[in-house]
Amino acid sequence: MKRILVTGGAGFIGSHLCERLLEQGHDVICMDNYFTGAKQNIKHLMDNHYFELVRHDVTHPYFVEVDEIYNLACPASPIHYQYNPIKTIKTSVMGAINMLGLAKRIKAKILQASTSEVYGDPLIHPQTEDYWGNVNPIGIRSCYDEGKRCAESLFLNYHRQNEVNIKIIRIFNTYGPRMNLNDGRVVSNFIVQALKGENITIFGNGTQTRSFQYVDDLIEGMLRMMNSRDDFHGPVNIGNPNEFSMLELAEEIKDLTGSKSKIIFEPLPEDDPTQRQPDITLAKKELNNWEPTVQLREGLSKTITYFDDLLGKINS
Ligand code: NAD
Ligand code: UDP
Repeated sequence: MKRILVTGGAGFIGSHLCERLLEQGHDVICMDNYFTGAKQNIKHLMDNHYFELVRHDVTHPYFVEVDEIYNLACPASPIHYQYNPIKTIKTSVMGAINMLGLAKRIKAKILQASTSEVYGDPLIHPQTEDYWGNVNPIGIRSCYDEGKRCAESLFLNYHRQNEVNIKIIRIFNTYGPRMNLNDGRVVSNFIVQALKGENITIFGNGTQTRSFQYVDDLIEGMLRMMNSRDDFHGPVNIGNPNEFSMLELAEEIKDLTGSKSKIIFEPLPEDDPTQRQPDITLAKKELNNWEPTVQLREGLSKTITYFDDLLGKINS
């Protein structure tokens, strides 16, 4: 049994990670400031004696004795990370410094939840880890993209300078149950709109692509990365290589929900990447043949069931 700190543990991905770590018999400390996360996401874990919840902001130092740290604290949806961009940068950069300082002091292994956004609007396709990316450093997405790029640099530098045992994963668009109803990301937006019979809002002409990964596949990849060989630090892409346009996604969700919602087109946000697809060769090689096992229709069906129940509870 290990003692494990999960920052951002009350968020969408964090709550699934805490759940899996507890199932494996570990002692889990979940730290969150509830900016985009919620106690509701981890309510079902509260009775477990090996689960501890701490309200704390990762931009402030935090001291605890643990064996491993998963650093997830950071809003991930464009509308949320652009709400207070300075805070987003502080969360990524100061959060990384605080957690790396802690890892150095207590000799813990630390994993960073980085992102495919480090590739920006990529000029090579699919994206391999050795691609340096095409990020607008002063645009409206830069608070997130550059914050995460700086965090990757900090992780590597703490490793090189202080021998901290680091792991970096670059997560591609992930979806599933416990996304916030008002999260603003495309999968939850389309599902909620379809279930409510509201217009499905495609930004731009809908030809831009993303590769969607179901949350269970990501958690498996994350755990394998934390337990990978000592001299493998990443960054490693964790995503599902099956790529879809936003138009295809909207049609798929309409089909699965049987919704009569109309598809409408709204302006494309500034710097919205046109394409995104992970090359997962490195993950397969280093993470014991890891690859996604849940394909889009199956993952969407599970997510639709979740939101259908949630909306039912809200309306009853
Ligand atoms: P989320 O918004 O549901 O979770 C983020 C969590 O971090 C929330 O619980 C939030 O309250 C917490 N948080 C934010 N700022 C904090 C702070 N200053 N101190 C403490 N807690 C704070 O998003 P998610 O999708 O679960 O993302 C989790 C992590 O994975 C993020 O670091 C994100 O950048 C990364 N990621 C996610 C995706 C994806 O598609 N979901 C893709 C790439 C990277
Ligand atoms: N998008 C959309 N309608 C929405 C929300 C998002 O068409 O209601 C588009 C968005 O412009 C982007 C894609 O869906 O091209 C994925 O957006 P999301 O915010 O989920 O993730 P990210 O852009 O960070 O990959």
